[in-house]
Amino acid sequence: MKKIISLLMAIILLTFCFGLVSCGGGQKIIVNGENLAEYTVVIPKDCDKITEYAAENFVFLVNEVLGITLTTVTDEASAVKYEILIGETNREESKTDTELKDGEYLLFTSGTKIVMKGYGIYVGGACGDFVNKHIKPMLEDGKSKIKINSLSGEPAPHKFTFADKATSVIFMIGDGMGNYHVEMGERNGIGMNQFIGRSFPINKVQCKTASLSVLNGDEGCTDSAAAATALSTGYKTLNEHIGIDLNGNTLLNVRELARSKGAKTAVLTTDVLTGATPSGYLCHHTSRYDTEILQNQIDTIISNNEIDYIKGSVEDNLTVETKAALRTVSSGDSFFVMIEEAYIDKYSHDHNHEGVIHAMKRFNDAATYATEYVLCHPDVALIITADHETGALVRNLGLDFGYAFSGYNHTNYTVPVFAMGTGTEVLNKKPLTIPILRNS
Ligand SMILES: [Zn+2]
Repeated sequence: MKKIISLLMAIILLTFCFGLVSCGGGQKIIVNGENLAEYTVVIPKDCDKITEYAAENFVFLVNEVLGITLTTVTDEASAVKYEILIGETNREESKTDTELKDGEYLLFTSGTKIVMKGYGIYVGGACGDFVNKHIKPMLEDGKSKIKINSLSGEPAPHKFTFADKATSVIFMIGDGMGNYHVEMGERNGIGMNQFIGRSFPINKVQCKTASLSVLNGDEGCTDSAAAATALSTGYKTLNEHIGIDLNGNTLLNVRELARSKGAKTAVLTTDVLTGATPSGYLCHHTSRYDTEILQNQIDTIISNNEIDYIKGSVEDNLTVETKAALRTVSSGDSFFVMIEEAYIDKYSHDHNHEGVIHAMKRFNDAATYATEYVLCHPDVALIITADHETGALVRNLGLDFGYAFSGYNHTNYTVPVFAMGTGTEVLNKKPLTIPILRNS
């Protein structure tokens, strides 16, 4: 894990910087001769979550940048003259035979309609680029009326690109999520190869998770405290330690670092806030089991307004809370957000297949929203990974659900890393090396 961790730290250290987000209000944007505020957003009836969340993030972005609130309807509604068509709607204008490759999208006008489509996740790229590449550059002139003439009338593919720098990071942790947990979720509802991270530019990286206790020969595998500390601080430590190194020194975590640079921060989890993973982004203590001490530290952070959004035990509201957290931190120039799904681990300890599958779907849904958010905010990086694997899950397609647990505890199996955004490409390169403090 140390290699991945040091890279994560490098990304975050190198990419946190300040970029002014041009914020509007009052500007009249004219597209095809009509004020953008008069357009209706149209999505397919019963559309997939990718398209639904792309449209939702588009409406949010337009409101954030222009102060305009657009209405969204499904294509069951009768067509009106000025429409923004997102995804494969039933409107004639949405029907194209242009073949799209990975990373590409279509953004064009057809009569009085604006058409936005994309390959896989990249429908959000069309939505984001409409605002980020066609409207935002013109806002800087400070005119009260802007005509957008830059949209092509031809359905020619565009390649989505991230901003030159990432100013913000969304870090998502599937607690206990090994490679087969992802596969089991896919085979039982998400769809084969449909876990959202598979579509990211970084989708083949694996992370080792052994803690310092394991490397010292004292424990068989990491616990969630040492793993969270490694992910949040870049240092391996002993099991049970939260934000503390083996010598008892306090380690700065990435949320604290981001905050010290002026970024907004948020922590969101389906676990209680004193759980080991969220604690890794909030607390410093030698034992994860002293929950009263952890709770006191969290209470202090909250009462001192040292965090912008914090919520535990969100369970089936994970996506709703992800939206709320991202809207809150979006108001700043940069942010760091940690989002954890804790029940992949909890249900794996119990060998509860249905529970794990439910948690995987819930995590995938929140991650899908975050993905479309990032495509609408290309200066944000998104990383999805796990702190360790739980339950020694193995593939056995002859059994119910297609997988079997072969242990009750955490393992040293590698865990997957999925990432998108400027800076995350280093995860595909030769890792940095950092010294590991050892008490041998
Ligand atoms: Zn864990």
